[in-house]
Amino acid sequence: MSARSGLIFEELADKAVRAPARHFGSQLGKAPRLPRPRPETTLRILMEKVVIIGSGCAGLTAALYAARANLQPLVLTGTQPGGLLTTTSIVENYPGFPDGVGGYELMERMQKQAERFGARVKFGTLEAADLSQQPFVLTVDGEPLETETVIIASGAGHRHLGLESETKLENKGVTYCATCDGALPIFRNQPLVVVGGGDSACEEALYLTRFGSMVYLVHRRDALRASKIVADRALSNPKIKPVWDSVVTEILDVKQDKVTGVRLKNVKTDAESMLGCAGVFIAIGHVPNTQFFKGQIAMDDAGYIIPKKGAATNVPGVFVAGDCADPVYRQAITAAGMGCAAAIEAERYLTGLGK
Ligand code: NAP
Repeated sequence: MSARSGLIFEELADKAVRAPARHFGSQLGKAPRLPRPRPETTLRILMEKVVIIGSGCAGLTAALYAARANLQPLVLTGTQPGGLLTTTSIVENYPGFPDGVGGYELMERMQKQAERFGARVKFGTLEAADLSQQPFVLTVDGEPLETETVIIASGAGHRHLGLESETKLENKGVTYCATCDGALPIFRNQPLVVVGGGDSACEEALYLTRFGSMVYLVHRRDALRASKIVADRALSNPKIKPVWDSVVTEILDVKQDKVTGVRLKNVKTDAESMLGCAGVFIAIGHVPNTQFFKGQIAMDDAGYIIPKKGAATNVPGVFVAGDCADPVYRQAITAAGMGCAAAIEAERYLTGLGK
């Protein structure tokens, strides 16, 4: 998805810069052969009307609406094109798909739909943002990019337990995505641990029952936070065993450089225990990806951007959509709705400027 998108953007940018050379060539008979600009150079030359940071449900819906408003939005994918939903196996609650739809497929469809109307999706990572003056200047993969409006749809990343052993064993049996890693040979027919009590943890546990010999769902309380339908499905699965009132205090074994188990503490009794497993899947919620806007945009203590009048922010010309501004609903469909609102607001803002 990303490579294709990047190519499309570079082609467009390249055409925009080369157009004058063709024009002169036709007047003078022979076109002077200008050096072909490198794609990085074109990023610096173009002034964008709308740059959308993030390519999840919020970002791609904003792209669809902005593209249909003829604003040729540029979408920066970030490191995870399609956003977190691409790591979900099946999405059952997105309207219009009575049999559910794969997370990756849904995002691919959204991208195609936005591109059909002129959105450009570029594989690029934001490194810095200066929103203090117009035009806004974004640094993307080392290059400055100027834009009249910004739609922040940067989503949220996985929350970590914060254990040293977690960091040391990441990708060595510790993971944050069952859909991405669950089928790895190291997890096959082995006991596995999922940490968390929300919808994500339950869905991860259910998915892992396909591979593990047993899935232990370690939760810090004695009731799941997950929606009833998902919680019931998880708790009635014979291969899922809940471990209530417990937190992981250490993941073993750093010395062996692989996961062999977890050390648990019962938060009610303080009793410690060990549980052998080959994998630890952490699904304890998310942290908004808003660090680049800290100090420039109003946000709450947890880092969620505080929207103003729908999709606006405290900075005129900067709009926000999706999980980076939503600590409450965090659904694909609510993110898409916010993306739509942000694009409509961006269009109205530009119209107000006479653009
Ligand atoms: P979540 O609903 O915030 O749940 C996070 C879980 O992790 C909670 O059970 C929480 O415990 C636990 N937790 C948080 N910090 C922890 C820590 N430091 N140590 C141990 N446990 C910790 O997150 P989510 O499950 O990722 O869901 C996010 C949103 O996406 C929700 O709105 C959810 O409904 C939605 N979602 C929906 C679906 C679906 O509809 N199919 C699928 C996935 C996600 P407490 O319960 O004690 O707070």
